[in-house]
Amino acid sequence: MAGSKQALLAQLPRVDSLLEHVDLAQSPWRRTLVRAAVREVLDRERARRLASSAASASPALVDETQWVQACLALLRQWTTPGPRPVINATGVLLHTNLGRAPLSDAASRAMVDAAGACDLEFDLESGRRGSRFDALRPLLRVTCEAEDAHVVTNGAAALLLACTALGRRTTGDTQREGVVLCRAQMVEIGDGFRIATMAAAGGVPVVEVGATNRSHLRDYEAALDPAQGGRAAAILWAHASNFEQSGFVKQPSLEALASLAQRFEVPLIADLGSGSLGGELPEAEPTIQAYLRAGADLVTCSGDKLLGGPQAGIMAGRADLVHACRRFAMARALRPGKATLAALHATLVAHVREGPTELPLHAMLRRSIETLRERGQSILRKLDGAVQLRESTATIGGGALPGDARESLAVVVPARAGRSAAQLAAALRRAVPPVVGRIEDDALWLDLRSVDPAQDDALAQALGRAMA
Ligand SMILES: *Cc1c(COP(=O)(O)O)cnc(C)c1O
Repeated sequence: MAGSKQALLAQLPRVDSLLEHVDLAQSPWRRTLVRAAVREVLDRERARRLASSAASASPALVDETQWVQACLALLRQWTTPGPRPVINATGVLLHTNLGRAPLSDAASRAMVDAAGACDLEFDLESGRRGSRFDALRPLLRVTCEAEDAHVVTNGAAALLLACTALGRRTTGDTQREGVVLCRAQMVEIGDGFRIATMAAAGGVPVVEVGATNRSHLRDYEAALDPAQGGRAAAILWAHASNFEQSGFVKQPSLEALASLAQRFEVPLIADLGSGSLGGELPEAEPTIQAYLRAGADLVTCSGDKLLGGPQAGIMAGRADLVHACRRFAMARALRPGKATLAALHATLVAHVREGPTELPLHAMLRRSIETLRERGQSILRKLDGAVQLRESTATIGGGALPGDARESLAVVVPARAGRSAAQLAAALRRAVPPVVGRIEDDALWLDLRSVDPAQDDALAQALGRAMA
């Protein structure tokens, strides 16, 4: 057995002999890249042959043309521009794996316009150095109803900067350190990342208080009151975003924590995550403004969730705290680039314009079921056979309210003899542009609420080809 495996491995071509093949030698890519691709193809094939049992280990690649084709395919894959556009038919409007909020045309244009030389940190009036945040601040102040605001690379960076810059302070002879966080808010937001560990990543400890289900004002008080040995420098409130507790549960309100924070002269930082500015968004979803009105001193959130903009982190609130964060050394490592700032500015302009907000996320939320039905029927007319239009449930996603379900419609393709839903889904992922749906009840569901109507034709074509 071992002998036959060795024989199979012995049949692998040498790197140099493949590199000399005319198609690889004449490819437009540098030799270092071509060599890396050849090595990768050989490594994969070696691993494949070793993994399969000797009986079934027939080589997938035998002649030189096949080897060269495999290398060229890998080079094509490596050099295709990305992230590539896809059609999001998952029904999750803010899908973290699919790039969260789709940008508006205005925001996309603004990114392209800022791509070359631009007045990022240059005041054209005076000819002097300017700040990259100047253009955004008036709009952020008004939309967030905040004294001042700052922008960083993402929501996690906003949380990290706030906790690190504000979580350590000396007033008189009291040295304060740490942010108080109750255990019910020690949330994991995804991919194994947790609020408490992100908050503490800058070296300021998180002071855990309360029990999983219940925490009281006196728990926070003990962590802040020097007379009780408390020395925390800030309170952190984390919006539980993607989960809910019910039953025997209790937490002090944001308002109650705000008074407590005031009494001990420490800031109340509220990590809102989703970052709604209200308007037509679900009313149950807390807004940045509401958090500030309730007494939060600084609110942090993402720019690419309910705000509907690019990946960014917003910090809005008291001017002195925003200033302290902006001047903190870490801020320089978290500053957003010009393309992000341009897209965020265009997104905020959409928020302050009269009338319905012209952002793709808002349009997706607004679309009536009748509109979705017309679109679905038009897609169905382009296909023949076993495709149905079924009632579906879309969700906002992106750390918005758990259970925020939106009625929707989906184009549903049941599994057929010889074709499982998973196989069909795989075929659609290989389409150009790829279509990503979800599998439910052994059928492929393509939810129309998360699909840009301009992509309906492409979706129908991809589906037609995948079903053929
Ligand atoms: C999403 C989220 C974050 C992280 O924001 P990113 O923009 O993904 O870095 C932090 N806190 C809460 C509550 C969130 O929902």
